Amino acid sequence: MSTDPFDNSTSSLQANSGQDWPTAYNPKETEDKIYKLWMESGFFTPENLSGDRPKKFVTCIAPPNITGELHMGHALETTLQDIIVRMKRMQGYKTLWIPGTDHAGIGAQNVVEKQLAKEGTNRHELGREKFIKRMWEWREKYGHAILEQFKKMGLSVDWTRTKFTMDPDYQKAVEKVFHHYYEKGWIYKGERVVNWCVRCATAISDLEVNYVPEKTKLYTFKYSKDFPLAITTAQPETKFGDTAVAVNPNDKRYTEYIGQEYDVNFLGVPLHIKIIADEAVDPAFGTGALGVTPAHSIIDSEIAQRNNLRSIQVIDKNAHMNKETGPYEGLKVSQAREKIITDLESTGLVEKVEDYEHNLGRCERCNSVIEQLPSKQWFLKTKELAQLALKAIEEKQIKIVPERWIGPYKTWLENIRDWNISRQLWWGHKIPLEGEEDVLDTWFSSAIWPLATLGWPLLRQGSEGQASKSDYEQYYPTDFITSDRSILFLWQVRMIFSGLELTSQVPFKEMYIHATVLTKDGKRMSKSLGTGVNPLELIEKYGTDALRFGLASQSTGLQDLRFGEDLLVMGKKFANKLWNIARYIQMKLGESCQWPERFDLESLKRSNLDILEKMEQLAKEVTKQIENYSFAEAANSLYHFIWHEFADKYIEETKEKDDQETRDTLAYLLFTSLKLLHPFMPFITEEIYSRLSIQNKKLLLIEDWPS
Ligand SMILES: [Zn+2]
Repeated sequence: MSTDPFDNSTSSLQANSGQDWPTAYNPKETEDKIYKLWMESGFFTPENLSGDRPKKFVTCIAPPNITGELHMGHALETTLQDIIVRMKRMQGYKTLWIPGTDHAGIGAQNVVEKQLAKEGTNRHELGREKFIKRMWEWREKYGHAILEQFKKMGLSVDWTRTKFTMDPDYQKAVEKVFHHYYEKGWIYKGERVVNWCVRCATAISDLEVNYVPEKTKLYTFKYSKDFPLAITTAQPETKFGDTAVAVNPNDKRYTEYIGQEYDVNFLGVPLHIKIIADEAVDPAFGTGALGVTPAHSIIDSEIAQRNNLRSIQVIDKNAHMNKETGPYEGLKVSQAREKIITDLESTGLVEKVEDYEHNLGRCERCNSVIEQLPSKQWFLKTKELAQLALKAIEEKQIKIVPERWIGPYKTWLENIRDWNISRQLWWGHKIPLEGEEDVLDTWFSSAIWPLATLGWPLLRQGSEGQASKSDYEQYYPTDFITSDRSILFLWQVRMIFSGLELTSQVPFKEMYIHATVLTKDGKRMSKSLGTGVNPLELIEKYGTDALRFGLASQSTGLQDLRFGEDLLVMGKKFANKLWNIARYIQMKLGESCQWPERFDLESLKRSNLDILEKMEQLAKEVTKQIENYSFAEAANSLYHFIWHEFADKYIEETKEKDDQETRDTLAYLLFTSLKLLHPFMPFITEEIYSRLSIQNKKLLLIEDWPS
């Protein structure tokens, strides 16, 4: 026989409202129904919240790409954000959480280009106008899928304020930002060596290049017999663009050559090579003599700037050798490499060929090998912007949690390079200058997300025809943002300096860098590697609350989260435990399952006083833990109290008792547990609350937070 006091088959308590209360919690029958209830209530919109709410709490979702699908990173991030927002709403804040999506320039353009390829055409055949139309059609049809998936997560975002980074008002905001910088003289066009994706036919930033280990060969050779030094390289095809050989100033082997200049004939191509000294050269790599190719290496282009060297482009934007390469003109880079080696070997110039493993740059979007080459691009000067962002942290205008991210934040800003803001794409914000074909880097527009989502810089018109307070006036600056570390520099830092420059205020007061979700054995989760886990499948199997609770219970903020399905098994068991506690209490108390009038502390029995005090302590603890982003501690405190103190001890000990004080205590413990657990497990707590016979109740969503 079962000893579980909540097991219906052994329970002698058959109360009126227990009849239609199933013995097990069914998330599938509950979640969509409850979400609809919340939507219909309108309470996700701050203006619909009742009562005088003098304090506001505002946050924005990190906008997912329109190409995106819900992954475990989103599931964790949005759960943590929802926990905070739900608590703040219950605490009486006027809460606003803005959802939306990012147009994701290169990522989205690639998806539609792949479709076109299947249809046997491409964007150039289609033409720019028709291609952009196709992009919008695609976005209308598929671009909202991820927002629907966010609904499955139970997020309490204000859907009436959903933003897209290419909405008409957002486009106006982006133009205003561009002009603002342009008028300050901070935007300029310049030739720079950029990471170039041949397939995407665009420049991409360092942060969008994946470095993948690759086995290759390292060649040591001389340009010609009469040149004194041998150089070492993995990319001999770029050597037609060499204008110097650099050695370390402390490398005694080469001191006598520094400052000498040579005219050489490298496989039929004349080169003029100067020997220079530069600290950037590693004397231990190869021969310690580096052929400097200013046009095809970002590092070499910096050496060239320091040493005033010429730059000769030898590879074109299609990764073919150009006219500067004599007999090699027209060859693909890979073909040229092979031919050069054969030719060098036949002339006896090769001294050494070694196996070598290096990190090869590949395009994050299409995996093509990245070429570094010179290109005319638009740049934004960032020195002064970086100073603003550094000052904001030093003066503690923005709090970064965990604090260990302050170091990398400062280092990055102190070493910031000018921002290449142009992309050779069609999908995106067109550079607002006469005759320009390029679009702006996607991050240029997402850098103003907290401002532009609130309608900056335009005012909204009130319904009476007079200007009412715009969202921007009412809700800016926001209170909080969260994201993972991978976009700390791409997004968060740029939001900070953009907000400060454009509004003279911080865009948010706190920034929480959450854990990265890894597989159980610590591997990166990736769909293409087959290590990804689909949160929607987990929701189908265990329910959203189990997923949310499982993730929160492991989110310490100090280390990455190693995800295993056991977390959801635990979450699901806990949901069922809660369900059965509530069912038991409702059956036991029947119609008298109400908020107790008051407890007479003087006459309260010791056992009741004890558990009520513990509950009070728990409420204080959980509140503080959520405020400090200690989600795991909060979840575990709740789990321990509800399962062990409340169910295993108190309920067990009071099974035979039926006095008013015990009944009141049971009701109080249940209601308070539901409230504290609501931010973590919103669906089941709301469903239980709706089933209790308690009078004058509101949605649990807007009940008062225990204090
Ligand atoms: Zn690419």
